[in-house]
Amino acid sequence: MRITLNLPDFTLDDLDVNDPHFNPGLCAGCGNERWGQMARLHGTGWLHTQTEEDEPTCLQKALDNLQANPLTAWHTIALHIAKYPSRHDASTIRAVLRHLTNTSQTN
Ligand SMILES: [Zn+2]
Repeated sequence: MRITLNLPDFTLDDLDVNDPHFNPGLCAGCGNERWGQMARLHGTGWLHTQTEEDEPTCLQKALDNLQANPLTAWHTIALHIAKYPSRHDASTIRAVLRHLTNTSQTN
């Protein structure tokens, strides 16, 4: 099954306190300062969605890591569905709930 998370990019500003996207801090992927285009992956944090060279972005690396760890991946999807229920259709929400219920029963 394939679930698409809609992660909007924001252009973060770490200098101007009055900017609506003022959001200083560090990237949860590379640990460097937040700059430019970033997206928030719940359960992980803010991640760069652009790189200076032709490398995978911090967001892409985080998503690749999630796929290697299915339980964390389902948990992340559940966090996104809880935060933005209207962005997901009922069959996706049902599948995630069913999966999490099955997972917690077997543990
Ligand atoms: Zn980064």
